[in-house]
Amino acid sequence: MTDRKRHEQNAKYYAAHREQWRERYAEHREQLSEYYAKHYAEHREQKCEYQAKYYADHKEPIRKRQAKYYAEHREQSLAFSNKRRATKLGLSEHHTQAEWLAKIDLLGNCCFYCGEAKPLTRDHKIPLSRGGGDEIQNILPACKSCNSKKHTQTTEEYLGASHLKDSLERCVRAVEYLK
Ligand SMILES: [Zn+2]
Repeated sequence: MTDRKRHEQNAKYYAAHREQWRERYAEHREQLSEYYAKHYAEHREQKCEYQAKYYADHKEPIRKRQAKYYAEHREQSLAFSNKRRATKLGLSEHHTQAEWLAKIDLLGNCCFYCGEAKPLTRDHKIPLSRGGGDEIQNILPACKSCNSKKHTQTTEEYLGASHLKDSLERCVRAVEYLK
């Protein structure tokens, strides 16, 4: 074996060896990072424990405080965003807050579609995007979930949708209203 060949072989061996070592190192590093991640997660859990305990102990006052804040600011922001949306579409006629409250009252303070007493949003019977107006005649109270399910359908289209046909009571109520 010539020196050159031996040298080549050594280089090859070294290269192969280095590759193995690198692999092993990579494996080791993975295990290490796993260990650290695990340790971090456990540690973080301990850190969060205090907060979780605080929340559990004060759940009711926290929930009440949040609900109060939400109730106080919700109506303002919803009315504002509704008007802004309608104005953007060039509509000059808007229903008033009093008209909105009267309409909710008229319909029993619940969602027109599912009948649940959830927080109510303004649903446009004929969507603004389809040429509906912002006057009270075109407004119905709907929970967020029904409002987003209705999406760009008109009230009549939505009430005719198959997923609503199962609720006779709801349909009767709706037909009564639409008469
Ligand atoms: Zn609903």
